[in-house]
Amino acid sequence: MAQHFLLSKAAKTLSLASVFTMKDTEAEKTFRGIRWADTNGEPVCPHCGGLDAYDCRRLKGAPRFRCRGCGKDFSITSGTLFASHKLPLRGYLAAIAIFVNEVKGKSALALSRDLNVSYKCAFVLLHKLREAMAEELKGRTVGGNGKVAEIDAAYFGGYVKPANLRIHRADRRIAENKSGKRKAVVVVRERGGETIPAVFRSEKHALSFIRKRIAPGTIVNADESPNWNDLHARFEMKRINHEEAYSLDGACTNWAEEFFSRMRRAEIGHHHHLAGDYILRYAQEAAWRENNRRVSNGDQAERVAALAMKRKPSVDFSGYWQRHVTA
Ligand SMILES: [Zn+2]
Repeated sequence: MAQHFLLSKAAKTLSLASVFTMKDTEAEKTFRGIRWADTNGEPVCPHCGGLDAYDCRRLKGAPRFRCRGCGKDFSITSGTLFASHKLPLRGYLAAIAIFVNEVKGKSALALSRDLNVSYKCAFVLLHKLREAMAEELKGRTVGGNGKVAEIDAAYFGGYVKPANLRIHRADRRIAENKSGKRKAVVVVRERGGETIPAVFRSEKHALSFIRKRIAPGTIVNADESPNWNDLHARFEMKRINHEEAYSLDGACTNWAEEFFSRMRRAEIGHHHHLAGDYILRYAQEAAWRENNRRVSNGDQAERVAALAMKRKPSVDFSGYWQRHVTA
């Protein structure tokens, strides 16, 4: 029998040991190569686009450049997701390597222990990596003529714990006894192709997202939920009633379920609690991992680093902790 990809040597091209024994100059070179791939690692001024900059390090040796064109200073991470970074560059490489090696996700507390940084630092860093992954999913569509895609939804967040004594327990099916924070993660997934998630109040709000992200001509598989009925006007649909079977006459949503299995395991095993606004980021992380599951860990790490370098400073977390200071 052929060896499974994840057991093969080709899947393992990056080791944490090699990151930790890296010298500062090597980490610097790696990041320069990723940030300025077009110029072979030569600095490009983010302020004016000039190519003429000289090395102008900070007193403690941290890399910094000064542009001869506009006279402004910049670092390797200026204007990127890792702007104003506090960790040494090697720390970021290590965080990315640890993150991509965990196929179900990584808890912020565990990362804070791995890197000996605060929980807050690990939490923000992990969310920035999720933001980087989300960059890859932007504007993507799946399917096309004759191709097959699946859609499905699952609910996350807003868990209401039942009271200890039975007489005190509320009926959690009634709207007023719910927390209002429960969200529907809806996914479109091409069989043998890409996965794209989104978050809605409930699955019936997802129809325009589905129409936008699945190309015309695609055969769409869905479960028996009446919320999907309107899609018949747009796509050739195959419906599967899960009370009868999981797969029948080629109709199934098993690829979509596989995505939810990964996300649910991340919730149960690592994060314990996926809350409100962040649910989309966790869904995008799970989708990225699904899409890149047959890519070696070295290539995955490079891809995440490149996405972080391509993305502007964090929309979710720029000045995040300052914003939450109340005293
Ligand atoms: Zn400049």
